[in-house]
Amino acid sequence: MEQRQKILIVDDRRENLVALRRVLSRLDADLIEATSGNQALAATLDHDFAVAILDVMMPEMNGYELAEHLRRDQKTRTIPIIFVTAFCADERHMFDGYAAGGIDYIVKPYTAEVLLCKVNLFLELDGYRQELQRHRDRLDDLVRERTAELSARVNEIRCLYAISNLVAAPCRSIQKALEQAVALIPQGWRYPEIAWARIIVGADEFSTANFQDTPWKQRADIVLHSDRAGLVEVGYLEERSGPHEGPFSEEERSLLDDIARQLGVLIERERIRTRERHLNAVLRSIRDINQLIVHEKRPSALIQGACDSLVASRGFSGAWIVLNAGSTGEMQGACAGFEKRLFEALLEPLRTGKMPLCCRLSWNAGGLAVVDSPRNDCRGCPLAQVYTGNAAMNVPLQYDDLVFGYLGVSVSKAFAADPEEAFLLSETAVDLGFALHTMEVEAARQRSERFLQTIFQTTSDGLLLAEAESGRFVMANSMICKMLGYRDEEITTIGVADIHPPELLDQVRSQFEKQLSGQFTLAEDIPVARKDGSVFPADINAAPLELEGRRYLLGAFRDVTRRKMAAEECQQLQNQLLQAQKLEAIGRLTGGIAHDFNNLLTTMLGNAELALAEMDINDGLREMIQEVMGAGERAASLIRQMLAFSRKQVLQPEVIYLNHVIGEIDKMIRRIIGEDIELKAILDPDLGPVEADVGQIEQVIMNLAVNARDAMPRGGMLTIETLNVDLDEVYAGMHVGSTPGPYVMMAVNDTGIGMTAEVRDQIFDPFFTTKEKGKGTGLGLSTVYGIVKQSNGLIWVYSEPGKGTAFKIYLPRIIGTVDSKEERSKPVKETLDGDETVLLVEDEDMVRNLAIKGLTMYGYQVLGAADGPAALRICQEHEGAIHLLITDVVMPGMGGKVLADRIKLLRPEVKVIFMSGYTDNTIVHHGVLDKGLVFLEKPFTPVGLARKVRQVLDGSVKGGEGQGKPLLDV
Ligand code: ADP
Ligand code: MG
Repeated sequence: MEQRQKILIVDDRRENLVALRRVLSRLDADLIEATSGNQALAATLDHDFAVAILDVMMPEMNGYELAEHLRRDQKTRTIPIIFVTAFCADERHMFDGYAAGGIDYIVKPYTAEVLLCKVNLFLELDGYRQELQRHRDRLDDLVRERTAELSARVNEIRCLYAISNLVAAPCRSIQKALEQAVALIPQGWRYPEIAWARIIVGADEFSTANFQDTPWKQRADIVLHSDRAGLVEVGYLEERSGPHEGPFSEEERSLLDDIARQLGVLIERERIRTRERHLNAVLRSIRDINQLIVHEKRPSALIQGACDSLVASRGFSGAWIVLNAGSTGEMQGACAGFEKRLFEALLEPLRTGKMPLCCRLSWNAGGLAVVDSPRNDCRGCPLAQVYTGNAAMNVPLQYDDLVFGYLGVSVSKAFAADPEEAFLLSETAVDLGFALHTMEVEAARQRSERFLQTIFQTTSDGLLLAEAESGRFVMANSMICKMLGYRDEEITTIGVADIHPPELLDQVRSQFEKQLSGQFTLAEDIPVARKDGSVFPADINAAPLELEGRRYLLGAFRDVTRRKMAAEECQQLQNQLLQAQKLEAIGRLTGGIAHDFNNLLTTMLGNAELALAEMDINDGLREMIQEVMGAGERAASLIRQMLAFSRKQVLQPEVIYLNHVIGEIDKMIRRIIGEDIELKAILDPDLGPVEADVGQIEQVIMNLAVNARDAMPRGGMLTIETLNVDLDEVYAGMHVGSTPGPYVMMAVNDTGIGMTAEVRDQIFDPFFTTKEKGKGTGLGLSTVYGIVKQSNGLIWVYSEPGKGTAFKIYLPRIIGTVDSKEERSKPVKETLDGDETVLLVEDEDMVRNLAIKGLTMYGYQVLGAADGPAALRICQEHEGAIHLLITDVVMPGMGGKVLADRIKLLRPEVKVIFMSGYTDNTIVHHGVLDKGLVFLEKPFTPVGLARKVRQVLDGSVKGGEGQGKPLLDV
């Protein structure tokens, strides 16, 4: 608002003032009058004057002095001064006026127009000056305002700059950076002294020391990729007015937004850095796991190592792996960063097939699954609490469609959603799955290789793999090495040519060629040479095969030596069986013939004997009858031989002296060996007795003598020696089958051709003979052996080719009192007569009649019966005593043994004599007469019968009397 201009008029004279007023009132200005200099100065304090009109000549203070005062004062110095004076034309005087600050002079008397014009000019000038001043002031204000604004901007920029610096500063902890940032923020605001600031990022909060949540505040979100990551706030402690919203300016709003953006960058960079660090860690652990995969062979060690490295590299807070019970049948687990105890608790339900949530999710997804908050979501899982604020990631360890197990990790939630993270973990799972698959395949391969190796090595066939081209062996099992006599490592240094006799190699090769071409597989009876040169026959089953582009022949060798031997043995057995069957048939035939023959001979010989007894001593017919008897005896002997050969002879052991037996057959031996061979007997005079069948012992001696004769075709010496010996433990230890004790030794030595060891080993085998067909039967020594064994004796042979042969027979010597046959059979006078009642049972009429006739002749009362029932009837009906039963053993219907047993029931006191032409199982076992039985061999004569009857009735015979003569296998 523009004020009216003021004019100061000073004159000590009132009329002058009035005159001035009159003139000046025409101007559009206020007039302020003063009558003295002091009054004027006082007026300047209250008013601003556009122009001052001063009288020069005034008392106290003249116009010039007043002007000087005005000029000195800041407020008044620029007021234009016009002097009004009566003095004129005095130039000095005028200069004084100008010097004092006057601008103009008006000399009295003045015209009003001049005054008015002059004052008006100055008013106009002042008007201009004032406007100028106003302009300047406005300019000043503007400058001031702009300057303040600018300094506020500078503060804002400084603040933002400082925060940007913080953000840009390399590698510092985000916490520190945010702490510093929050302290910097108030500086950017208009009233920093009352400003507070606060930053909230996730769970973290940073604020200035003076923070109070006041109502005068503004806030901005920290946004990362359109997600709110946090917020930043600025506020005042007191209320302030501001140009825009609340107390804050537009610029401050945008500053806060800028700061929020900067903090976003900071947080983002930190996140990237942590993520980078984390991913690096994960990569490191993946690298470690890959190393493990390359080197580790055991699944348990692999999964433990994998867990360890996932945690050790700081990628994950915890890691665990469970493997399904695969081929091992046992579920395996490993963990790191978790307490073992808790992990074990997780395994328990898994073993029973209960899968935890994370596994279920990943199984369903067929890949990675994330549980954001296991703490809340995984109820019942023993590990749930261990995850604390982390997320759980789980991924199946699989290869193709096979799931081997699960990998679970505990990881910061920030990373759980990261696709890269998911990718890396899935990759790890794929690698582990592949490794587990490889291990399983490898284990299976090794198992099957072990199986194959074991089968290859333990198969009973020898296996050889030969290269077709070169014939070299490239692989062999232990069996073939053993067969061929090579060490395992030697076998691959040789080839086909080394294991077949050179002369047969071409033939063998042509067989292999056929096998290679697939014409046949089995080559039979191929001669194979051992390392030591010995050759064995083998069947070689071979098949051609191709390995890595080369042709091979795989041969299975079977040593057929045994089979061949077995075949030969089988042939031999077959022969023996045939022989045995032949003998059996002969035996049966012989038995039948002998039975009838002996009955016939008994009749013939008996009647001849009776006839002879009736005849006169000089009767010319006697000689003829004796001839008949001689022929009959020879026939009887022949029958006996046949029985011996067919083993139908009845054996009757008794106590005998070998010297005596040898003496008895001495003549016969001499007859057999002929004149070219000298016989020498060296007999121990004190030789002890033995228990044996005389006939058998004779048979033994005769057989040995015959063999000796055959061994000495050009003569020599046959020695028979007897000796008492005691075999000790040492001897028994060295000779199989012998027991220590007293023995009688009989040695039969010759100076003949001797035997090879091979022959010696077989001589006791039945049918073994080295003699030409028709000469030897091979039964001699086997009979000897059987007899010696039957008599509890031992037999040894000593022989070498060209050095003669010695047979030594040991029979157990009887110690103590001896009831010998010699003593018994030398009665002073033989009495054959008797009057006892004898029941004679014989189905053959002629034999029965002869026996009755003979016994009646000696005075016995004889009751005859043709069969068992008739005999029993007689026993029941006969009134008197029956002393003796004589019964044939073999009869149609009831046999002799049964009859005797039944008669014993009726008449227990009756004595029994059995008679037979050959053995029958009812009274003998293995050819030996049952103990306590008395046996009379057919054919017999009336004298022989009467003698037996008398002996039995007198009780001098307990066993049967052996009447057999030695039989030879000649
Ligand atoms: P055989 O006399 O019918 O051949 P043996 O059983 O009596 O049957 O004898 C079997 C074999 O034992 C004879 O073929 C012969 O080779 C051998 N042998 C027996 N005794 C002698 C001996 N004193 N000297 C040499 N070899 C003998
Ligand atoms: Mg013989």
